[in-house]
Amino acid sequence: IIYKGSVFMNKEERLELAEILFPNITKTREYYEEMYPERNLEENAMVTRFGPSPTGFVHMGSLLVAFANKMYSKESNGTFFLRIEDTDQKRAVENGVEGIYNDLKAFNIIPDESPIVGGKYGPYIQSQRTEIYQTYVKDLIIKGLAYPCFMSEEEIANIREEQELAKIKIGIYGMYATDRDLSLEEIKEKLNNNCEYVIRLKSPGDSNKQVEIIDCIKGKLKFPEHDMDTVLLKKDGTPTYHLAHAIDDHLMHTTHVIRGDEWVSSLPLHIQLFEILGFKAPKYAHIAPLTKKENGNVRKLSKRKDPEAAVSYYKEEGVPAEAVKEYLLNIANSSFENWKKANPDKKIEDFDFQLNKMSVSGALFDMVKLLDIGKTVISKMTAEEVYEKAYTWAKEYDSELEEMLNDKEYSLKVFSIERGNAKPRKDISKWKEVKMQLFICMMIKFRNLI
Ligand code: GLU
Repeated sequence: IIYKGSVFMNKEERLELAEILFPNITKTREYYEEMYPERNLEENAMVTRFGPSPTGFVHMGSLLVAFANKMYSKESNGTFFLRIEDTDQKRAVENGVEGIYNDLKAFNIIPDESPIVGGKYGPYIQSQRTEIYQTYVKDLIIKGLAYPCFMSEEEIANIREEQELAKIKIGIYGMYATDRDLSLEEIKEKLNNNCEYVIRLKSPGDSNKQVEIIDCIKGKLKFPEHDMDTVLLKKDGTPTYHLAHAIDDHLMHTTHVIRGDEWVSSLPLHIQLFEILGFKAPKYAHIAPLTKKENGNVRKLSKRKDPEAAVSYYKEEGVPAEAVKEYLLNIANSSFENWKKANPDKKIEDFDFQLNKMSVSGALFDMVKLLDIGKTVISKMTAEEVYEKAYTWAKEYDSELEEMLNDKEYSLKVFSIERGNAKPRKDISKWKEVKMQLFICMMIKFRNLI
């Protein structure tokens, strides 16, 4: 690509502008390139990551994403890291990072590097990397590939209205990108008048041209080239997610970005950012959302409407983490079910997970099936294991059950009924159901006594 650099500013002017905009940035790209060298891994090892906002909890769809990332890095002796993406501070909650880490830990999806345990490519929280992002943007200013934009919210709203009326694409591009080619003098004047500004990408794209991108799950995708002057740095100097992820994935040497489907439409922008920044783009894989049937319609599993969408729900209900993971693999990879039948005693981590076998459209979330897997998982445990796990759960969530389980000898007798044989009884799908089982057995015992 030959970038249409800044038309009205020569190199000296661009250097001057970069110093005016970023007087505190004294480091260079080279400094960071050296600080975060290539990872010392085997060839073909995959470096994957999970990048949630610090909302404090993991959604089932994101658990699947995290799990897929973990499986991949593990299979290839690579690295899996957790990076907290808090570019949108509104979504942050107190202890949000710990909440996410603990949710992952409960499912044994433990990152090799994270804000909790650190790592050589940190910090692993985007808000602590602002200086890095600004260094790269300063360089883009010098190269004429980004510019300060002083448009007010009102001006942008007016443009939007005009575009809506004309039924054309909404956004700041082409003739609407009015600050694209301001002269240095004009910019200085606005800065002297304390006008607020963001830094925008000077997009070299042409939406009449197509880009082709191979997605590891969806296959070949075609899009018009990105031609919007997307915001890179906000008014307060913090980055947008788009910019931050490109710089981070480059410096952290991510090889595969496996993430939710909602990011597919941003792909043309992301690919363009990698090009403009002079980085090699990672491979992308977009996982379809989990869906649910409701009144005959299929809709996305929703954090707001469906309690079962939060992974904490399974902990509270006492569904074994193993069952949840096995269920996720079932819906994620079409060949998993047959593999499991053929290898009933293997650990699910031994399954050869393949991105190109993942469902392209949203998988239907089926609680009955999940609980059924729970029954099978629990039926394979020894009476002692059932006791220990149910007891641990009860201590946190059900004091009545805890009291019942204090009689260990009796509980073990109940849990031993039809267990440990070739066809074990499948009667418990989650720890919450143990109380009822103990209760029924007590009633029978009581009746027999009379
Ligand atoms: N922060 C993004 C999210 O919460 C992650 C997108 C990505 O993995 O690139 O969805």
